[in-house]
Amino acid sequence: MPWVNEDMCVSCGVCVDDCPVGAITLKEDQKAVIKEDECIRCGRCHEVCPEEAVRHDSERIPQEVEANVEKTKSLLKHFKTPQEQQAFFERMVRYFKKQQKVAGLTIDKLTAMTADLGSN
Ligand code: SF4
Ligand code: SF4
Repeated sequence: MPWVNEDMCVSCGVCVDDCPVGAITLKEDQKAVIKEDECIRCGRCHEVCPEEAVRHDSERIPQEVEANVEKTKSLLKHFKTPQEQQAFFERMVRYFKKQQKVAGLTIDKLTAMTADLGSN
């Protein structure tokens, strides 16, 4: 999912005009923003932005990890004893392992589908 680095966006509107599904708008401050649920991941905004302000998703991995850690820490207050807290952490680890498994299996399926596309 592409995203806009607001510090780099100069509000030229090129990406807004070029997005094939109208998923990008300029906010009140004139910085571009991408509507995640409308984006079809075509990659055009990456190509047309003259400032390289449209960034790749992978750059946000550290922030997303930190958000997961902070979310987990914020939930910790609901568990009082060390035993409860340990059980909670174990549940969160299981949750993220499940997410990891879902991602891995999804990647396997999409990779197989990609191979099928090439043989058609
Ligand atoms: S093309 Fe780049 S600089 Fe121009 S509005 Fe879009 S994100 Fe901002
Ligand atoms: S990737 Fe394509 S659909 Fe998504 S915001 Fe960029 S131009 Fe629009």
